[in-house]
Amino acid sequence: MTQTAEPAPVIRAPRGPNKTAKGWIQEAAKRMLMNNLDPEVAEHPDTLVVYGGRGKAARTWDAFHKIVETLDRLENDETLLIQSGKPVAVLRTHEWAPRVLLANSNLVPHWANWETFDKLDQAGLMMYGQMTAGSWIYIGTQGILQGTYETFAGAARKHFGGSLKGTITVTAGLGGMGGAQPLAVKLAGGVSINIEIDPTRIQKRLDTRYLDEVATSLEDAIARAEKYKAEGVARSIGVQGNAADLVPQLVQMNWTPDLITDQTSAHDPMWGYIPPVTPDEDASRLRADHPEEYKRRAYDAMAAHVRAILELQNRGAVAFDYGNNLRHRAQEAGVHNAFDYPGFVPAFIRDSFCEGRGPFRWVALSGDPEDIRATDQALLDLFPQDERLQSWLTYAADQIAFQGLPARICWLGYKERDQAARLFNEMVADGRLKAPIVIGRDHLDAGSVASPYRETEAMLDGSDAVSDWPLLNFGLGIASGASWMSFHHGGGVGLGFSQHSGLVIVADGTPEAAQKLSRALTNDPGMGVIRHADAGYDHALNVARDRGLDLPSLGI
Ligand code: NAD
Repeated sequence: MTQTAEPAPVIRAPRGPNKTAKGWIQEAAKRMLMNNLDPEVAEHPDTLVVYGGRGKAARTWDAFHKIVETLDRLENDETLLIQSGKPVAVLRTHEWAPRVLLANSNLVPHWANWETFDKLDQAGLMMYGQMTAGSWIYIGTQGILQGTYETFAGAARKHFGGSLKGTITVTAGLGGMGGAQPLAVKLAGGVSINIEIDPTRIQKRLDTRYLDEVATSLEDAIARAEKYKAEGVARSIGVQGNAADLVPQLVQMNWTPDLITDQTSAHDPMWGYIPPVTPDEDASRLRADHPEEYKRRAYDAMAAHVRAILELQNRGAVAFDYGNNLRHRAQEAGVHNAFDYPGFVPAFIRDSFCEGRGPFRWVALSGDPEDIRATDQALLDLFPQDERLQSWLTYAADQIAFQGLPARICWLGYKERDQAARLFNEMVADGRLKAPIVIGRDHLDAGSVASPYRETEAMLDGSDAVSDWPLLNFGLGIASGASWMSFHHGGGVGLGFSQHSGLVIVADGTPEAAQKLSRALTNDPGMGVIRHADAGYDHALNVARDRGLDLPSLGI
């Protein structure tokens, strides 16, 4: 990873209704870049790492400062180009074009691997953008919470009669995304044991109320979990240790959880997944001094981890992969049956994707939590029939601690997101909200991702690896009025395994924004329906017919 010599500044986005940029879109992009690096939001802000292993918001601190300066002088008919976290050009476009276009970590397919990327990264030529890190719409762990809840609720519906009450889930990784797991399992009614190697991550989840308590050992964690399970209490327990040690220990102890998954950063064997080391070794030193030895150990560890998951599955646990490419890493290390357990998308999420339904998020540039409360209420009133949305928003309003600028997430689909966005725009225009709202989405999404071990795993027509779709999504967002669009490689599952596009749009209360919001937030989730209808999913075909899409090759 490229390190910078300058001391790292502490970043916090400006708040309130006054801007220094020449338009609200530029101001919003600047505040969102800064918000990604707010110490309350980012996992390692000093090295510009936001989340997901080494997912960064800007290539270097110098690049960060130049982006901020440029956004402040950018005209309302200009577009700033960002190449892997570095501002490379400002060009005259037009008012309806995006103000920023970003491309992160893209490599020609033959060279699309970590080895090539690492050389370029070390030469200062690239940065890893993950998903919402390099597209400036990360909002902290809340950003994934409802998605994680949807996954565990899906598992509950499919395997446990609708609730995780009286079940124990074992998982690992309490990082930026993985930290949502304990709260999501709890929301679905269950008990969880959460293995994490880094005690500071455990403390962060305790401090932000994502995790309830910490056990002193694996035995202690199991004893606590069994007690809560027997009492039918939903509760989350952290335990410090290495998943590659502790999950195989469960097998040796002959103790089987009800659910087993993992969210360590296995997508990145060098900087993400931490192998076990002896008491007199330091993992960071080992990586710096003996990178090949470190990587070999990481692969061996992932193989041991997956063998244990497979054995727990044999003994009756419901096992699923949580989108970090752990199965493939283990397969590379010789575990031939690593894919004997499914990914979370085909297992629990695909039906939602057929409706273009997925994580939709928004951020209050006022910095005032009251603005988010007002939008929560507006959506409760707008979608009274959506029970999942009603219970989520009611819960979230009460329980979620904001990180950085106040923000909210909820799952909405095709012909819903545009309605919500237009309403927010009206609320900015008539003063019900104190400043503009930034609207975006995850790249964990129905129509903007090609990722054969995650979002597009096991597609009905075998089109898992076709990445025309995210490219069409990227172009469509630009043509529809997005405020900034990004195209990324390697998010979620690592280099060589995914291509995906990100969309962000600003509701600044103007009539022009209303038009852009209407088009962009109809077409973007529409791509999810189109992608799945084209692949032959009946549910998507029905949604396409019912909600009026025009699909010439399907006669719709
Ligand atoms: P992160 O890098 O912020 O956190 C990973 C955590 O795993 C760290 O706290 C690290 O200390 C811990 N860890 C690493 N190796 C370990 C080991 N062997 N044993 C125990 N703990 C270990 O990453 P994140 O943002 O939480 O994302 C985690 C993974 O999930 C990534 O691979 C990411 O690409 C993927 N992801 C999944 C989704 C999803 O929806 N399923 C969404 C985004 C990201």
